[in-house]
Amino acid sequence: MSRARTLAMAAGIATAAVAVAHAGPAVAAIGPLRRRLMPATAGIGDPGHVALTFDDGPHPEATPRLLRLLDSAGVRATFFLLGRMLTEHPEIGRAMVAAGHEIGVHGYEHRLLVKRGPRATVDDLTRATATIAELTGSTPRWWRPPYGVANTVAVGTARRLGLTPVLWTCWGRDWTRSATPESIQRSVLRKLAGGGTILLHDSDHAATPRCWESTLAAVPPIVTVCRDRGLRVGPLGEHFGASRPG
Ligand SMILES: [Zn+2]
Repeated sequence: MSRARTLAMAAGIATAAVAVAHAGPAVAAIGPLRRRLMPATAGIGDPGHVALTFDDGPHPEATPRLLRLLDSAGVRATFFLLGRMLTEHPEIGRAMVAAGHEIGVHGYEHRLLVKRGPRATVDDLTRATATIAELTGSTPRWWRPPYGVANTVAVGTARRLGLTPVLWTCWGRDWTRSATPESIQRSVLRKLAGGGTILLHDSDHAATPRCWESTLAAVPPIVTVCRDRGLRVGPLGEHFGASRPG
């Protein structure tokens, strides 16, 4: 890890702390500096909007249920897919696109990029992006590295592939063994503000088995709270509007 560079460092921000816990945000230690210098990468967009994002899918049981739930709520979201998962369930990826959701790239494998060599990093992202575009019929715009940690090779590769890195401003900690629908709501709402990006998971690929059940139960009340606060909920494309981050 000594030579690892985070997304934040790639953006020219020095930080000594790199969180490598599950989904640990590499930029968590940066705080206000992060918000001032790289708001879009941190997921900060339209102050009247909240971006809803899901990582690690598609999952054969969780994702179709989530798609039905989002349809009922009239909400569209952004899904950061794993190439390997998508090859096993390409019909779910196509259903996402048909329902108006956005597709992003998480990776082909769910591995910490900074522990991989440059060649493996380039190969993973290139393969993931090509697989996702081919199987969903949609060109992905966004990229979120596994665990929110990346190096300059990964960031450069993503940009060459036309992908914009986006992290998150709040999460549900829904991958943990102790997560409940209530704890997920509390975790998200504790830091939720207009312009924020919510990270949740529609898969247990890198988490406690069936943890997504609590996530699914937490989504409708989270959407309701956002709307009660006068905030629109939708995908990243809406979140950044015409001012696409680059
Ligand atoms: Zn992930």
